[in-house]
Amino acid sequence: MRTVTGRSDHVVVVGAGLAGLSTAIHLAGRGRTVTVVEREQVPGGRMGRLDLNGYRIDTGPTVLTMPGLIEELFAAVGESMADRLTLTPVDPAYRARFADGRTVDVHSDEERMAAAITDFAGADQAAGYRALRDWLTRLYATEFDRFVAANFDSPLSMSLPALAGLTALGGFRRWDRKVAEFITDPILRRVFTFQSLYAGVAPDRALAAYAVIAYMDTMSGVYFPQGGMRAVPDALAAAAEAAGVRFRFRSSVTELERTAGRVVAVHTDQGERIACDAVVLTTERHRSYELLAHRSRRPLAVRPAPSALVLHVACERNPRIPHHSLLFGDAWHSAFAEIIEQGKVMSDPSLLVTRPTAGDPSLAPAGRDLLYVLAPVPNLTRGHIDWERERDEYATEILDLARARLDTDLREVEVLDVVTPADWARRDMLAGSPFALAHTFSQTGPFRPANMIRGIENVVLAGGSTVPGVGIPPVLISGRLAADRVTGQRERSTVTTGDAGVGLRK
Ligand SMILES: Cc1cc2nc3c(=O)[nH]c(=O)nc-3n(C[C@H](O)[C@H](O)[C@H](O)COP(=O)(O)OP(=O)(O)OC[C@H]3O[C@@H](n4cnc5c(N)ncnc54)[C@H](O)[C@@H]3O)c2cc1C
Repeated sequence: MRTVTGRSDHVVVVGAGLAGLSTAIHLAGRGRTVTVVEREQVPGGRMGRLDLNGYRIDTGPTVLTMPGLIEELFAAVGESMADRLTLTPVDPAYRARFADGRTVDVHSDEERMAAAITDFAGADQAAGYRALRDWLTRLYATEFDRFVAANFDSPLSMSLPALAGLTALGGFRRWDRKVAEFITDPILRRVFTFQSLYAGVAPDRALAAYAVIAYMDTMSGVYFPQGGMRAVPDALAAAAEAAGVRFRFRSSVTELERTAGRVVAVHTDQGERIACDAVVLTTERHRSYELLAHRSRRPLAVRPAPSALVLHVACERNPRIPHHSLLFGDAWHSAFAEIIEQGKVMSDPSLLVTRPTAGDPSLAPAGRDLLYVLAPVPNLTRGHIDWERERDEYATEILDLARARLDTDLREVEVLDVVTPADWARRDMLAGSPFALAHTFSQTGPFRPANMIRGIENVVLAGGSTVPGVGIPPVLISGRLAADRVTGQRERSTVTTGDAGVGLRK
């Protein structure tokens, strides 16, 4: 495995999002001096926050899986997660509600899920579910360590036996087709394939290897932190600081000072010059390349993932609404085609509605709930929607739809904020998408933009636009992979599988 050359005693990490925090903690745990430079005033990056009229809003991710990866970080600096963060299982993980009004609750527990499926679609589908679970377990075991959590120097550095294993499992087939071998009911199947959107690809186009996201989502448990999602970066930053990591908030990196093939110092907009031995950039690919004056040699332009419109709403407390609701429209394949290929909003949208106050009522004033409604929409490259003009009308349409589909009264509704692709673009996100690069075949594993660049000896990349990809678990792993590039690979500790169960509140 290629590593940075020369000294690596003092490492500057650019960005205090999850990838930057993960990198900093792993490096501090391995004895490096670490300085994190972050342009915002708080850690978290896309795991963002907005405090408004007594509401504590999480503006980014809402679905937290694989808490073992977070535990691994605390363990890397000799701490225990339970001392800094309380995670509670979300049960059911999701409630899926279909256009015809039928619902099925998604449970991580096999017996409860099989019972729910029997009620929803019959015993043969429940038997198919058990076989799917077995396949997902084998898929996860085959690919996690050797493909997802591995550094590749080139496609040739992939292990041939591991590739053969993944091929035998059907990992290079299409996600939807593979799951159809187990779940023949096309409506129920959506529960195990919709996650392809998290990878930025339609289920009938995505590689079956990505069904490992369905393993995380439907089998290994969904969790919620007390204090909201922001509690995760806050706890990680506190542990990093206790381990000696220095933070420079409200400082934007403007220049990397280079001598030959090495970066020797980082300059900020605060006029600071921070000398360093190595740098880890967690900025988006286009910004990292600009800072490095690097031009990609990829023959084709990279493909950004689709984007999302997020609506933050307050309403009278309503315990009938579950923590996560998947509100499926009637349309399916055409809905993906509209946002990914045709650049249009979905004519019959499917939505994710989260009620974080189900997990922690203190996030809203007494008697009130917070709702987070996410509608997938085209990114700004594929779609040409004038969001300044369309924003309010589309937000109203989405809110009306959510109200109708949740099948319960929403009272005293107040729209707190609407975030569109234009807002994500203002925050420097490629093509106005918060989900970086889509996980197409040519942007997967060793074909995804790599975390080291030839000719630059002491810079490593981390975060959603490099390996392994987008989402909380992948970017936490990207921090470990970046640390390995700096220090050489370390033996993994005992809590690295990402599975739930250690120190969590049950
Ligand atoms: C709306 C939304 C919903 C999501 N839902 C989920 C979900 O439910 N589950 C899930 O697993 N994932 C979800 N994700 C994805 C997940 O949040 C991201 O993949 C992940 O948080 C990205 O982390 P990162 O560290 O790579 O990037 P970032 O969080 O963007 O961190 C990069 C940091 O670098 C800083 N920075 C940038 N430029 C500079 C500079 N020049 N100088 C200094 N600092 C700089 C930025 O301010 C930022 O803090 C969601 C994301 C969004 C936005």
